[in-house]
Amino acid sequence: APVVAVVGRPNVGKSTLVNRIIGRRQAVVEDVPGVTRDRVAYDAQWSGRRFTVVDTGGWEPDAKDRAARIAAQAENAVATADVVLFVVDSTVGATDVDESAVKMLRRGGKPVLLVANKVDSDRQESDATALWSLGLGEPYPVSALHGRGSGDLLDAVLEALPTEAPRDDVDKPRGPRRVALVGRPNVGKSSLLNRLAGEERAVVDSVAGTTVDPVDSIVQIGGEDWLLIDTAGLRRRVGQSSGTEYYASLRTNAAIDAAEVAVVLLDAAEPISEQDQRIITMVVEAGRALVLAFNKWDLVDEDRRERLAKEIDRELRRIPWALRVNVSARTGRAVDKLAPALHTALDNWERRVPTGQLNSWLTALVQATPHPIRGGKAPRVLFATQAGTSPPKFVLFTTGPLDPGYVRFVERKLRDEFSFEGTPVHVSVKPRT
Ligand code: GDP
Repeated sequence: APVVAVVGRPNVGKSTLVNRIIGRRQAVVEDVPGVTRDRVAYDAQWSGRRFTVVDTGGWEPDAKDRAARIAAQAENAVATADVVLFVVDSTVGATDVDESAVKMLRRGGKPVLLVANKVDSDRQESDATALWSLGLGEPYPVSALHGRGSGDLLDAVLEALPTEAPRDDVDKPRGPRRVALVGRPNVGKSSLLNRLAGEERAVVDSVAGTTVDPVDSIVQIGGEDWLLIDTAGLRRRVGQSSGTEYYASLRTNAAIDAAEVAVVLLDAAEPISEQDQRIITMVVEAGRALVLAFNKWDLVDEDRRERLAKEIDRELRRIPWALRVNVSARTGRAVDKLAPALHTALDNWERRVPTGQLNSWLTALVQATPHPIRGGKAPRVLFATQAGTSPPKFVLFTTGPLDPGYVRFVERKLRDEFSFEGTPVHVSVKPRT
C-alpha cells in the first residue's frame, strides 16, 4: 500500500490527525515502556482506497538541536513516503523550525500537503490562510480534534497518491481451493488419491481440461471439495520408462504453479532424496503453501522413526515452517489430518498482519536486538509494511542495506510472532534513498 507520512513539530496535533485518519480511537499509539519509537504505521482507508499512514514520533522535545532533529525526521519521512502531510499549528503560525522543515521537504521531491491544524471554527480560517507564506501552496484547514476539514484533506491525499492497479482478489467468490499432490515416482501419490477419492469418484468428478484428457479433479477431503490439479498425470503413472522424468518434472512444476497449496508426498520408509528436495524447492520458489506428507507410515518402525527424525533435522532445516503429517495411503492412517493441515497452510499463506501490530512488534524487536555495527555505524529499521499475501511479503524500510543474516533473523522472529506455519514468507529491504 502507498505510504502517507505525517510530519511536523511536537504538539501540532500529528497523532490526533493520524487517529482522525485511521478513524479508530483504540489505535492511539500504544507506548511500549523503554522503547523510543521512530515512527508508527497504521492501515488506513478512504473512499475505498487503502494506504499506510506513518506517524513520525520519536521526537525528543529536550533535544539540543531541534532544527536538526526535525530536519532529519522530515528527511526520513520524505524518503519512504509517497505523500507527506506537513502539519502546522495554525494558532501558532509558521515558526523557524517549520520553515527549515519546508526546505527539506521541498528537496525530497515528494508531494507535500500543508495541513493547517487546529482550525476549529470559521473564524480561525484566516489563521490557515496566513500559512501560504510557507510556499507549499494552499493550506488545508483542518481540526484534527473535531474532524472539521478532514474529508477534504483525505480527498486531496487520494489525488496525490500514485495510481494503483485494480485489485482482483478482493471478495472474489471462490470455488474449491487448488491443491497439487506431488512427489517423486512411487511415493504413493496415486494410492493417496484413490484413498481420498476412490478411483470411481475421481473419474466421475473429473473436470474436463479437454474431453479426452481430464486434468483436474474435484475430490472430497475432510468432507469438503478440493480441486486436485493434474490428477490425469497421477493416474497415468508417469515416470515408468526412461526419458519421462524430465516431462514428469515439467508436469510437477506446472501443477505447483496452478495450485495454491502443494502436498509434497514423501516415502517415510526411504531416505529423503535429492529428488524430494528438488520438488520441495519448486514449491518454495513458486511461493505456494506447503504441506509435507510422509506416506507409508505403516512401514515405519521405531528404528526408522528415529532415523527419519534425524534426516528431517538435517535435510529439511531450511523449511522448519513446513507442516508435516504422517499418513498411510494403504491403511488410511491419519489421512484425515490432511484437510486441517491444508487449511492452516492456506490461512497463513493469505494472512495479513495489521500494520500497527506489525510495527509495535518490530519496534520492540529492533530495539532489543539492533543491527550489528558495520564500519562504525549500524543501519536502522524504521518501519515495515506487508506488501502482499499469497505468500506474505514484507518490506522493511531502513536507513541503509541490512546484512542478510539480520534479515533472516527478522524473518525468523516474524514467523515466531505471527505463526506463518506452512507458508514461505518474503522479507525485502528498502533502504532510504
Ligand atoms: P506414485 O507413483 O507416487 O503414484 O505411487 P503409487 O501410488 O503408484 O504407489 C507406489 C507403490 O507404493 C505401490 O506399490 C503402492 O501400493 C505402494 N504404497 C502406496 N502408499 C503406500 C502406503 O501407505 N503404505 C505402503 N506400505 N505402501 C504404499
